[in-house]
Amino acid sequence: MKSRHYTIPVFVPEEACPNQCVFCNQRRIAGAECAPSVEEVISKVDEHLLTIPADGEVEIGFFGGNFTGIPIKEQQAYLESVQSYILSGRVQGIRLSTRPDYITKEILDFLEKYHVTSIELGAQSLDDEVLKLAGRGHSVTEVQEASRMIKQQGFSLGLQMMIGLPGDTAEKSLFTAKEIIRLGADCTRIYPTLVIKNTELEQLYLEGTYQPLPLEDAIQRVAEIVPLFIDAGVKILRIGLHPSEGLLDRTSLVAGPFEVAFGEMVFSEIWKQIFSFLVYPNVRRNLITVTTANGMRNPAIGYKAMNKAMLLESFRKVVFIESPDLKGFEYHVDTV
Ligand code: SF4
Repeated sequence: MKSRHYTIPVFVPEEACPNQCVFCNQRRIAGAECAPSVEEVISKVDEHLLTIPADGEVEIGFFGGNFTGIPIKEQQAYLESVQSYILSGRVQGIRLSTRPDYITKEILDFLEKYHVTSIELGAQSLDDEVLKLAGRGHSVTEVQEASRMIKQQGFSLGLQMMIGLPGDTAEKSLFTAKEIIRLGADCTRIYPTLVIKNTELEQLYLEGTYQPLPLEDAIQRVAEIVPLFIDAGVKILRIGLHPSEGLLDRTSLVAGPFEVAFGEMVFSEIWKQIFSFLVYPNVRRNLITVTTANGMRNPAIGYKAMNKAMLLESFRKVVFIESPDLKGFEYHVDTV
């Protein structure tokens, strides 16, 4: 049995993307200026494999843009360059991200031939008005149709969503999450919309016609969505953009709810809401033992141990333990 799962990320920005998504300056988001050569892909994979245990489950992920939108010869060259790792068994799968309107039966046959296992679509929203205002250039129908074809052909399906796009509301974000579940996604990524330099959104923001979500609102909105995905068994691969250089030093960030620990803050908020029922003003008991599912102890303790501090207002001692019998946000409390 393989131990841990590893994804070796290869960023393939689309250098001449014909689309006009208002939020996108893709090269800045991906943190890479140009598409890597085949040799660079191979050396990157080799480099990563040196650090991955032999029994790790490994996949190579072509991210950063619209993989099936680049010329077919280039797709082929990238996929061919990693076939030897698949055939030798060192790497078990290939995943890639692309747009819903660049999925056809022919392209799926082609990807299958090259052992692609997972396809992630930038769905962003399942509301037509939001997609239109975001300049996506496709509608909800394309997301539904591409999802159906991907599932039917036996690939694992990922549907990425954004919150806080122009025209988006809490209800629409929630609806999008429910639709992602209904369409049978195996995994998702949730990105709060950021205003990045040299994008149309930057213009809208500077003109005053677009306001990004404040950090607190973005956390609340994602905190409503996450339990739905967890209950439905949709794996959440990422919450919040990867902190590329331009975001970390804020040279490419104009405005918006960017925090390196955004995902951690969301999980902390969910547990805070759960624990708020256990806190009574002016009552202080001796001990509370909180049992959570495996992997949930730290999120339950909270970002900067905030939830523990909140419980310490009502209990002299707070103990967190994990149990393999619990899953998701299930928990037990014992109080003395
Ligand atoms: S987000 Fe939109 S504009 Fe940016 S690379 Fe993808 S399809 Fe092109």
